Amino acid sequence: MFRINDNFTKLPASYLFSEVARRVKVYTEANPGTDIIRMGIGDVTRPLCPAVIAALHAAVDDEANGESFHGYGPEQGYGFLSEKISEFDYKNRGIDIGPDEIFISDGAKSDTGNIGDILSTANCVAVTDPVYPVYVDTNVMGGRAGELGDDGRWSRIEYLPCTAENSFVPALPVNDPDVIYLCYPNNPTGTTLTRSQLKVWVDYCREHGALLLFDAAYEAYIREDDVPHSIYEIEGAKEVAIEFRSYSKTAGFTGIRLGYTVVPKELKGLDESGRLVGLNGLWRRRQTTKFNGASYLTQRGAEALYSPEGRRQVKESIDYYLENARMLRVGLAEAGYEVVGGVNSPYIWLKTPEGMSSWEFFDHMLERYHIVGTPGSGFGPSGEGYFRLTAFNTHENTRLCVDRLTGKS
Ligand SMILES: *Cc1c(COP(=O)(O)O)cnc(C)c1O
Repeated sequence: MFRINDNFTKLPASYLFSEVARRVKVYTEANPGTDIIRMGIGDVTRPLCPAVIAALHAAVDDEANGESFHGYGPEQGYGFLSEKISEFDYKNRGIDIGPDEIFISDGAKSDTGNIGDILSTANCVAVTDPVYPVYVDTNVMGGRAGELGDDGRWSRIEYLPCTAENSFVPALPVNDPDVIYLCYPNNPTGTTLTRSQLKVWVDYCREHGALLLFDAAYEAYIREDDVPHSIYEIEGAKEVAIEFRSYSKTAGFTGIRLGYTVVPKELKGLDESGRLVGLNGLWRRRQTTKFNGASYLTQRGAEALYSPEGRRQVKESIDYYLENARMLRVGLAEAGYEVVGGVNSPYIWLKTPEGMSSWEFFDHMLERYHIVGTPGSGFGPSGEGYFRLTAFNTHENTRLCVDRLTGKS
């Protein structure tokens, strides 16, 4: 009989969002007519901007006509888009990333999950805690995690706690990991690292021969000057870092799907015999073999984001979410909560009061204020005692949420 990949059976069932839904259902069935505000939404809610919609319509018309029809495209993406990315996302920030270092894909979840394909299973991995679960679970699937302990930690993964005690700035690893995942602005905490704080990580990776996997899915939310938009703003990062970007939270592409990954030519790792091998070529081989390219339509849609109208319209949408984040941050502080995030990020991370567990606080918020958020413990052991609210609801509902918490409604 054939065998399955046993690593998959090691993964515990993920019950975070199903348990949230279950508890909300139980409550609303017992209390019909309650006006619940959903502040746990991890998806954008505003529609695609007009510039993107126009480009999508035009691209559909291209496909209706023999001369302009596009079938299979380049696996790594069309030049019309990778050139825009290179110019606007990198060269305009003084970073020299060429189109041939950019790999367009159907999103950052796939890429952060698939990147392990080109890395040895012998590597040890470090993650910040709390963490975007994809990094951990895909390393479990890839056989790099070891065994799950009673404390919710995998034996071969190094966890770098980010809590109020260290102001959500992770300390450098102590177990000499080979691969380090960082996500800034962070999901779920909404916190950022400054230029000098990120430099510490790039320098560490250079000294220790570690690979930095940098998830910049929330780059477009950055408003403060001292917070880098790209890891390559840090000197020497091209030799140690891969960067993941997404149009999902940036431009509302969660439904139509598009992202990209940057693998610089300078980035090299060791093979079995101790020779240095470029990762750009390995990722190109991986993508051209296992991926047939993102859709022509979506790439035309993304191209429009770099036009003057596209840039303005996207900024308006993000400003809308950031205003929600500001309301939440200020309102929660006024209500006496300890809160971080929400300045360069759509996420607000708060400490549960009076030592309540994340789930106790979830029930308290639901029953007392009819507000739904996400228990921090669902993002890792160090998320226990924290709670995430998101800025993706409407201004009206966000205001209502703040009024309930501050006792004004
Ligand atoms: C939403 C999210 C992504 C993934 O986005 P895609 O829709 O797959 O592009 C990646 N990383 C983090 C941290 C996210 O929150």
